[in-house]
Amino acid sequence: MIPTGTRLEVDLAALAHNFQYLKSKISENTLFMSVIKANAYGHGMVRIAEKLQELGTDYFAVAYVEEAIELREAGITKPILVLHPQLHTLEDCFEHCIEPVIYSVKVLERFSAFAKAKSLQDYPIHLEFNTGLNRIGIDPEDLPKVIALLQRNSQINVRGLQSHLAASEDHDEKEFTQSQISKFEELCDIVEQQLGYKCLRHTDNTSGILNYSDSHYSMVRSGIGLYGYGNDINYDIHLRPVASLKSNISQIRSIKKGESVSYNRSHKAEKDLKYAVIALGHGDGINRIYGYGRANMLVNGKWAPTLGIICMDMFMVDVSSIECAVGDPVTIFDQNYPARDMAEKAGTISYELLTGIQKRVRRVYLNK
Ligand SMILES: *Cc1c(COP(=O)(O)O)cnc(C)c1O
Repeated sequence: MIPTGTRLEVDLAALAHNFQYLKSKISENTLFMSVIKANAYGHGMVRIAEKLQELGTDYFAVAYVEEAIELREAGITKPILVLHPQLHTLEDCFEHCIEPVIYSVKVLERFSAFAKAKSLQDYPIHLEFNTGLNRIGIDPEDLPKVIALLQRNSQINVRGLQSHLAASEDHDEKEFTQSQISKFEELCDIVEQQLGYKCLRHTDNTSGILNYSDSHYSMVRSGIGLYGYGNDINYDIHLRPVASLKSNISQIRSIKKGESVSYNRSHKAEKDLKYAVIALGHGDGINRIYGYGRANMLVNGKWAPTLGIICMDMFMVDVSSIECAVGDPVTIFDQNYPARDMAEKAGTISYELLTGIQKRVRRVYLNK
């Protein structure tokens, strides 16, 4: 096999499979929002958006206005929700037809002032309520103020009402999650009654969709599930990891007992050692927590643990007992050895490992 270097292989057929699986969990009347923030969890935002648009997603969500503008400039036409717009970019929403999540009175005041200045009519926004995550969101006591502002403002139309669950993947927190859901429903009822029209309701992320079928409402927001992870072994078996991170051996070296390898002499050989150098480092998203043997790479069917500190552009793995040569393929994670397993062994989660894979790593799209 000809070495093709470090690459993140992105399997669009797996993405399609996961999309269909998640869709099969919701009713036909529930809209599906694909969350593609943070470069589509590292998979490449525009290519993933194009595929999901083709598959029939109803909505997209990103975190920031800049991400939404990039999608519009790439020709994405479906509605785009921005989950956490910053005050200084609110005005940029209008020109690109981007729907902001309004998460505080302050953001609402700013946004309505812009809408008034532009004499807009019924510009779509979504209101986020804080029901217990205590991150962003309008607190119930601010509701009268928000409603008063909206009633004076025909420039704005509340298309959606949302909240975010704090522990939808945690079965020990069912009661807390149910209380968030009830609070959300109460708030939605009040807002709709006061405004005199119905809005979309959405609160479930991937684990919400899978664990709380009563709260799908009119739309769900899925991110990690699309990429093949369900935060639960019982769901993971139905999903297919989309990304595989691969490389080839750059160099093979040997050191004798007592010699050391990597920065700060971080691995001291207790016996003679043969190791391989891989062209990936913390500058590519392989965080230093994966050093010191806390991650294993697959080399010719065998596990090779990392040796010492992960450098910026490369790391070393022990191949003392593995027959291998320069150019041989190395798997960092793939469909059989998922990113979740690698991440969990080092004390983190699939989300962080995937979103951390930097632009420098070439994406290769497969569509079998
Ligand atoms: C990131 C995010 C999601 C997607 O969550 P997953 O667990 O990846 O499905 C949904 N809603 C909000 C508000 C988010 O920030």
